[in-house]
Amino acid sequence: MTKRPGFPARLPRAAPAQPVRRPVAAPVGSLAPSGLGLDSQAVRARMVQKIAAQGIVDARVLAAMQAVERHRFVDSALVNQAYEDTSLPIGLGQTISKPSVVARMIELLLGSRAAASGRLGRVLEVGTGCGYQAAVLSQVASEVYSIERLRGLHDRARDNLRAFRLANVHLLFGDGMAGFAQGAPYAGIIAAAGGEAVPATWTDQLAEGGRIVAPMVMPDQRQALVVIEKAAGRLSQTVLESVHFVPLKSGIA
Ligand code: SAH
Repeated sequence: MTKRPGFPARLPRAAPAQPVRRPVAAPVGSLAPSGLGLDSQAVRARMVQKIAAQGIVDARVLAAMQAVERHRFVDSALVNQAYEDTSLPIGLGQTISKPSVVARMIELLLGSRAAASGRLGRVLEVGTGCGYQAAVLSQVASEVYSIERLRGLHDRARDNLRAFRLANVHLLFGDGMAGFAQGAPYAGIIAAAGGEAVPATWTDQLAEGGRIVAPMVMPDQRQALVVIEKAAGRLSQTVLESVHFVPLKSGIA
């Protein structure tokens, strides 16, 4: 059995966490499988500066984006584009999310009451893809459960992440529409694929004070980022900006 972190037993009942407004720190250390990370630090630091310029202020998010070497998650032919703010193909018709969108969604996740103490508890990611966002999440959460419905990508993510030795990332193969009950309740649930609605299993598996951050197809057929919060057992939903994610699909393949 995985040892469960103390969440949500010791949640402070303080005001919602406010992002710390600090200038972007100079890059420190990277989450590199070997000692080879230094050469990409500077280019990653520029990516982080651009993300900060777009309004991401949470120092935890910026540090995590600086730490994870995105170029290790894309095809060798695409490595020179790895630090551009763009989604890139990862095979099987799927894409690695744009860095600025990864940062935005994780900042929203960390804005919950459940993250007030600094680090999130358990997080569920739906749509592992190549494993990049799972690695970023591993820097801000105590445990990351990441589920992927395509066997080929699940295997690829495992290969990509192996060398990082992230003991708090748990890769699962299955249909994320059902969530992952064994890890529940989650302080945060983040989806990298958008459906017509957020499945009830996700809200059921969300901890008190936690947040779901997910793309959702709106009645006008456009996708928007949605934040769902659970407070005093009640759910509230906020619709934010338009986004473009691959569709949330049911079943495995
Ligand atoms: N998190 C990735 C993004 C992957 S793209 C990153 O770091 O860049 C979204 C992924 O969601 C795709 O791999 C797709 O196969 C997966 N997906 C779609 N519907 C799903 C479902 N019901 N359960 C699990 N994964 C799903």
